[in-house]
Amino acid sequence: DERVWLSVRVVTLSKKRRLLLARDITRLRRLEEMRRDFVANVSHELRTPLTVMSGYVEALLETEAGGNPARERALKRMQEQTRRMQTLVADLLHLSRLELDQKGRQLEPCPVAGVVDGVYEEALGLSGGRHRVELEQDRGLGLLCQPDELRSAFSNLVSNAVRYTPEGGSIRIRWYRDGNGEACFAVTDSGTGIDPVHLPRLTERFYRVDVGRSRETGGTGLGLAIVKHVLTHHDGRLTVESEPGRGSTFTCRFPAGRAVRLGGGDEEADG
Ligand code: ADP
Repeated sequence: DERVWLSVRVVTLSKKRRLLLARDITRLRRLEEMRRDFVANVSHELRTPLTVMSGYVEALLETEAGGNPARERALKRMQEQTRRMQTLVADLLHLSRLELDQKGRQLEPCPVAGVVDGVYEEALGLSGGRHRVELEQDRGLGLLCQPDELRSAFSNLVSNAVRYTPEGGSIRIRWYRDGNGEACFAVTDSGTGIDPVHLPRLTERFYRVDVGRSRETGGTGLGLAIVKHVLTHHDGRLTVESEPGRGSTFTCRFPAGRAVRLGGGDEEADG
């Protein structure tokens, strides 16, 4: 690859004089690409051994059932941890894929109601009756999008809400158009909340407010990084409002021009 990457800036000095500043960022780009490929390759290579391990653990658990309780406990722990590694590897691969084809794929006008229904069901399942879960959605509001990507972003927000909200709390899921026409998917929880100092770094890979708690609850630390990438791909953005001890609202906002009104089979882009 012989390409050279330049970062260019024009500075106006006076009416007649302008300064062109060019910086060679080729090395930086290459390093970034190497990092991305490395992570993708390692994750890919880890997948097969993990599948083999989880297969054997599963088989041993079946034959050990009702046998030695200490061994059964040990095997259960191994199963949990193998699953955790599998989730982590899947998230890492997902993230590298998102980084690779940022703008490559076609976005199509899709109904979003089904996706929202799906993540609502998921919230109910994850909560297992420990929270009050509410859904409120504009069923005719569609979006120019990649529905699978959308599902993964929404699902990450919903699982975080369940994860960081103690028993007895509430979770509210909304899909709506707000005053300025943006299409919004919002998840509000009455959970732990987040101290404002953490907000700017929340979507960084592996950034966690409370490492212990996140691990304990099964988080990979990659959820919000995935959300951010999916939103970038859709020209959207994530906003977070949170108050420690009271809860948080995570909102995915999509530009008005991406919203689609669905009704009677007719689809019409508006906004
Ligand atoms: P994790 O897998 O650790 O949840 P995420 O990228 O999804 O990773 O989130 C990053 C961090 O942001 C979490 O570790 C947690 O500290 C914080 N966080 C995310 N969602 C919430 C929420 N709904 N309430 C409180 N804290 C949250």
